Amino acid sequence: KPKGRLEPSAYIDGILKGDRVLLSRAITIIESNLESDKLLAKEIIQAILPNSGKSIRIGITGVPGVGKSTFIEAFGKHLVAEGKRVAILSIDPSSQRSKGSILGDKTRMEELANMQEAYIRPSASGDTLGGVANKTGETMLLCEAAGYDVILIETVGVGQSETAVHGMTDFFLLLMLAGAGDELQGIKKGIMEMADMVVINKADGDNVTMSKMAKRQYQNALHIFPLADSGWSPVVSTASAIKGIGIDKVWDEVGKFKELVDENGYFLKNRNHQQIDWMYNNINEELKHLFYGSEAISTQLKTLEKDIVSAKISPVKAAQNILEEFKKTI
Ligand code: GDP
Repeated sequence: KPKGRLEPSAYIDGILKGDRVLLSRAITIIESNLESDKLLAKEIIQAILPNSGKSIRIGITGVPGVGKSTFIEAFGKHLVAEGKRVAILSIDPSSQRSKGSILGDKTRMEELANMQEAYIRPSASGDTLGGVANKTGETMLLCEAAGYDVILIETVGVGQSETAVHGMTDFFLLLMLAGAGDELQGIKKGIMEMADMVVINKADGDNVTMSKMAKRQYQNALHIFPLADSGWSPVVSTASAIKGIGIDKVWDEVGKFKELVDENGYFLKNRNHQQIDWMYNNINEELKHLFYGSEAISTQLKTLEKDIVSAKISPVKAAQNILEEFKKTI
């Protein structure tokens, strides 16, 4: 048993009883890069696995300032009022918990953060998106085992992280604004295509008419996309996170979506796909770690870089050589 750590069973029993302190401590172990913690994390996850998977997992994205935190606060409170227990996680590999980290500022979700039925955990830090995503995925399993039946995973709509979130959630929600210049606000078409629902936020005050127009525009834009494998046609609606308008509609749509995909088998099919993808992601991460983490390899790589620049060896040959070396070590 590593120093400062409890027996595995203490974490496992604690999580299964919904003990938030032990849940938090177990998540810290998942986020740790110590080898002893990695072993402990695996043991905990393996033990709670049969109790995981029973939540609905919702991904939420949108550019900074769109109102994600405000929306999650309102949505989370609505879910709690509906008798749900909600866990809020985030993926943000860019911010190392410091500047402008999403969810870093819990004051934006003050009421929710103080509710017993809600659990908020800021983004894990890490060097690679894959690594951060793996940790968040494992954190999600622990939260499910601790009895949270809705998991919200937030991410900023500016990079690759939404694909990672899409890959670990059942329902993907995109928050947008009306009339903010460019219609797609830097949201790439690929992200629009992943959305099960688009919510035009800040539909309040002078912004109501514009938001309704934006809603129609997005509806038209989404109709151009082919029907998703889920069989679900994405929904566009307006909301005011700050006034709590249109929040119930989002949960209603999640319910309708769930009904459809339970019935047509997509829910399970998608979860199974995600599980298998997750295994491959882990293998990829672990392989990279093994390879680039080796000192001998990094020394040789530096030499090869020089040899490539001085045209002593071709890049392809260099890659082959070093992989041959690597194979000898495993
Ligand atoms: P995030 O960066 O996407 O998490 O956005 P925040 O939730 O921090 O919101 C950014 C700003 O927009 C804050 O000043 C919020 O008060 C404001 N805001 C969020 N939702 C609404 C809304 O529905 N209506 C209006 N008028 N302002 C909002």
